[in-house]
Amino acid sequence: MKKLAAVMAAAVMCISALAGCGSKAEDAAPTEGTAAAENESAAEAAPEEAPAEAEAGDGQDAGSGNEEEAGAAGSGNEEEAGAAGEAGVTEALADGVLNVGTNAEFPPFEYVGDDGEPDGFDIALIKAIGEKLGVEVQVDNMEFASLVSSIGSKIDVSIAGMTVTEERQKTVDFSDAYYEAVQFVVAPADTAIASAEDLKGKAIGVQLGTTGDFIAEEIEGATVSQYNKAVDAVNDLINGRLDCVIIDKNPALVFQARFEGKVTAIDGAQFDFEAENYAIALPKGDTALAGQINTALKELKEDGTFDALVAEYIEGSDE
Ligand code: GLN
Repeated sequence: MKKLAAVMAAAVMCISALAGCGSKAEDAAPTEGTAAAENESAAEAAPEEAPAEAEAGDGQDAGSGNEEEAGAAGSGNEEEAGAAGEAGVTEALADGVLNVGTNAEFPPFEYVGDDGEPDGFDIALIKAIGEKLGVEVQVDNMEFASLVSSIGSKIDVSIAGMTVTEERQKTVDFSDAYYEAVQFVVAPADTAIASAEDLKGKAIGVQLGTTGDFIAEEIEGATVSQYNKAVDAVNDLINGRLDCVIIDKNPALVFQARFEGKVTAIDGAQFDFEAENYAIALPKGDTALAGQINTALKELKEDGTFDALVAEYIEGSDE
């Protein structure tokens, strides 16, 4: 969703210049650059939304919802269905480009590939969806904590191993869920941590604004350190600055493999962490976009593309 003004300005320029005008208005949305540690983009995020997002303490409950719930983008809330819903056409796709925000620090779902561009399961999935919708997919690598509040302005949608939570649903809608996950505990290989009780009073690293962060903040006596990049938390764990890191299952397994012999990834079931569902975050009320994305997702599951991507990106990523 490029701002209409930008599209019109581009069109005017096109008419007056009659040359050199690209088909897209991508210049309207500056790329974020890498998910740097500085807090710039967090500051840019709509301030009134940030606190609500930050205190989504109970994310995992919402995440445990079933696909029906997760898939009910804009469900039952006609008031909020807004202009896009009424029009039945989605603004987000009007310029032929789907601007997607991610945080490429979450392997195997998203990471920076050898060519310096975001890659991973989510990126491949959203590109396949874009192909179905007949639009170009442009991926912006941003801080995770800025994604939700950037939807509808800087980006159209976000795919980032993002768990459906009630708190996030106050700001955005979600597509149908596409992956079930759970938080894991990454700890030194020789750790004694084995139960929820053992986490009390510990120095815990998390990725800022994630469900792991929300869980950690609820743990009695814990000192929580928030990182923009999960790998920085794991490095601090290896350096002895943290007792453990709480992060989603698949990245935890990737880190266990990457730092073999140094860290171990412990199943969240041992800590009573609940299942979470990943879905694509969408502009609130854009039921047309939700419908198109869900249809594409369904087709990709039916035609085997989805499973092929799971095999390519997820299976074996922890070896
Ligand atoms: N699934 C977690 C969340 O939604 C973490 C996502 C991530 O770090 N990319 O908060």
